[in-house]
Amino acid sequence: MYRSGLGWDVHELEKGRGLYLGCVHFKDAPVGLKGHSDADVVAHALCDALLGAAALGDIGEHFPNTDAKYTNFPGSKFLEAVAKLVADAGYKIENVDCTVMSDAVRLEKKKGAMASAIAWHLGIDVERASVKATTWEGRGAVGRGEVIACQAIATVSKKGS
Ligand SMILES: [Zn+2]
Repeated sequence: MYRSGLGWDVHELEKGRGLYLGCVHFKDAPVGLKGHSDADVVAHALCDALLGAAALGDIGEHFPNTDAKYTNFPGSKFLEAVAKLVADAGYKIENVDCTVMSDAVRLEKKKGAMASAIAWHLGIDVERASVKATTWEGRGAVGRGEVIACQAIATVSKKGS
């Protein structure tokens, strides 16, 4: 039995913060993302996709942003925790895919690094993780460089049900 889930997240850009996307630190980026955690919008969207596929709620239920424990919490740790929740519910991760929307920072050279890091933290083969990047061509909040957004999908399977 196969099941799929969707995820979506957006964070505002903020000067003076490190930029983390898909568990990769963009050391040369002039801005980071605002958030209670490390604001890894890619990891967050993927977490919601995986939780959705297993019908386990959303990232905010499991890891409330009012909890001091999650201050600057890395996206990689959220992915590891969600992979465990999904496995504990009896599901195997078949694949994850996402589209990162960013005009503020060009991502094309880091897509492979993000996919590898995501696969590593989820404990899946790298060919099961995909990261794509696009821009909004100067339009909207993404285009004006105010936010970075990410849309994600995940498919999981369960034996014998
Ligand atoms: Zn988020």
